Amino acid sequence: MSKKKLIAGNWKMNGSLEANDALVRALAAGTKDVACDVVVCVPAPYLAQVQMLKSGSRLELGAQDVSVHSNGAYTGEVSAAMLREFGVRYAIVGHSERRQYHGETDALVAEKARTALAHGVTPIVCVGETLAEREAGQTGEVVKRQMAAVIHVNGHCISEIVVAYEPVWAIGTGQTASPEQAQQVHALLRQQLAAATAHAERVHLLYGGSMNAANAASLLAQPDIDGGLVGGASLKAPDFLQIIAAASASAPAAGRTN
Ligand code: PEP
Repeated sequence: MSKKKLIAGNWKMNGSLEANDALVRALAAGTKDVACDVVVCVPAPYLAQVQMLKSGSRLELGAQDVSVHSNGAYTGEVSAAMLREFGVRYAIVGHSERRQYHGETDALVAEKARTALAHGVTPIVCVGETLAEREAGQTGEVVKRQMAAVIHVNGHCISEIVVAYEPVWAIGTGQTASPEQAQQVHALLRQQLAAATAHAERVHLLYGGSMNAANAASLLAQPDIDGGLVGGASLKAPDFLQIIAAASASAPAAGRTN
């Protein structure tokens, strides 16, 4: 049996009760027969609303962050156990916007992944280089350093995470990594995971960075691209459904198991 693709939408700090209602209803209706997994990562205040709206559909619920702490005096934080109470199955950790605007370090991201896993939430761990780092020829070094921290802390259950390669220069810019550029980094990450686990093939490696209806199919056709993390295009049902259709149609890599 082959591994299904995984498409995750990152709404970022967007949405309203009214807009979410229309979006989730359209996605639930449009994903009845798809052959891939679909997650919507919504702002924390909307988890309860989306949990109800998605009920009975194939959609899975995700958060955009999780506290590294389990509970206690951490004003403003949301714990993994709280997320689980709302049916959250996935949490993005280490998104470049959190690394950049909230000072999240490789070590913190690795610990957040550990906390999520400990509470039955699958972390979608984001890694990726800035434009300056790519231009300096440091892409491989940067993503491997970010990944190494996560492997170091989560070694024994590393095959249970999801990884999203998101070149920072491609996020929200309309500038996408070419399928070849993305595949090159995904292959590196797969190799790094294979050195840490016998089950590296099980890990979903998502591409993120201006994925849209027009470029999704060629990115998803790459052998090590197992899905997408989609920002802007996940807010428009027709666009997101076209990406989902591309993932659904794209042949899973041979020999991989779900
Ligand atoms: C993201 O926020 O993770 C992302 C990939 O955004 P966009 O698709 O808008 O580039």
